Amino acid sequence: MSPSRVAIVTCATYERAEVDAAVARGFALLGGASRFARTGERILLKPNLLVASAPDSAVTTHPAVFSAVARELAATGASLVWGDSPGFGGTLGAGKRAGVAAVADELGIPVADFGHGREVSFPEGALIKRFTIAEGALAADGIVSLPKLKTHALTRMTGAIKNQFGCIPGMLKGEFHTRMPDVTRFSRMLVDLNRFLRPHLFVMDAIVAMEGNGPRGGDPRHVGVLLFSEDPVAIDALGCRIMALDPALVETIVEGERLGLGSASDIEVVGDELPVLTDYRVNRAPASTTRGLGSSLGKRLLAPRPFIVHERCTRCGTCVAVCPVEPKAVDFPEGEKSRVPEHDYGRCIRCYCCQEMCPERAIEVKTPLLGRLIRR
Ligand code: SF4
Ligand code: SF4
Repeated sequence: MSPSRVAIVTCATYERAEVDAAVARGFALLGGASRFARTGERILLKPNLLVASAPDSAVTTHPAVFSAVARELAATGASLVWGDSPGFGGTLGAGKRAGVAAVADELGIPVADFGHGREVSFPEGALIKRFTIAEGALAADGIVSLPKLKTHALTRMTGAIKNQFGCIPGMLKGEFHTRMPDVTRFSRMLVDLNRFLRPHLFVMDAIVAMEGNGPRGGDPRHVGVLLFSEDPVAIDALGCRIMALDPALVETIVEGERLGLGSASDIEVVGDELPVLTDYRVNRAPASTTRGLGSSLGKRLLAPRPFIVHERCTRCGTCVAVCPVEPKAVDFPEGEKSRVPEHDYGRCIRCYCCQEMCPERAIEVKTPLLGRLIRR
């Protein structure tokens, strides 16, 4: 088998002319946009719209990248739509705040239906044989996925593989966390989802990525590159290299390679040099503190846990709303909404949805003492 090609293109800023030139070069390095879209095909552009967030917060795919990719693909004669199902809130609200909806309007690209889902069968699934997928994703002839490079509490990094989770509509995403609280099984599910959806191309926005308390509450980190590939495993493995993170610690990559989604090792890099940022703030702890902690005791003693920084909490209740566990594993004490919510670590499955969605960056993740000792 030939190696997976990944094109790296330096792009220092989100200035339109610079991004347009970088995107055109990225497509050229992979053989041109016509390899990924054809006249008459309906192509879904799938940015990362995790939650309604302004472009400079580095939570969502930047609209300049969305715009440049859209224009390259539109020139092939394909008809484009866009969509994503955020972790909290609706597609249009998130798209507007991220600046993607305005660009799409300007280019005449309609929004796809991500509010409704349809059950599909996937007998080839290693773990999941049936998915409920957004109608807008099912109606497309092909997907071009536009992930953002960020840190993530559960999977350490989020990039190409995880971006397809937004093709699961609404709160159904939370069900996967309760059904497979273990990061290995959750990652296997994500790999199955990618094997079902098979996006034609991934263009990763790593011009300004996110480090620290990602994927929402972290800090923007300038990296200055765009990555292009048909292989989500290869592109995520290079995303890890940027973060100086061992890809063997990222379960989505490990499972992706094991199940034949792509390759993390047999990669042909073309284009520019990949930056490696050794001081990138990401979880590099050994797998023993995160992998295979299926038992509640193991999780309780070892797995990193979310905690609320009281001074930052505005009592908005988002963490309570998104917690997929019933009864909730984070809730207002005695139902009093004027008080800071509290975690019940006995019930908490460590999915980190509360940390992911807190709008005030008030939830951080810390490893308990025993987990910290095992790291040494
Ligand atoms: S989501 Fe954040 S700010 Fe809102 S109640 Fe929870 S911890 Fe507080
Ligand atoms: S409290 Fe947070 S980490 Fe725990 S189960 Fe609920 S959303 Fe997930």
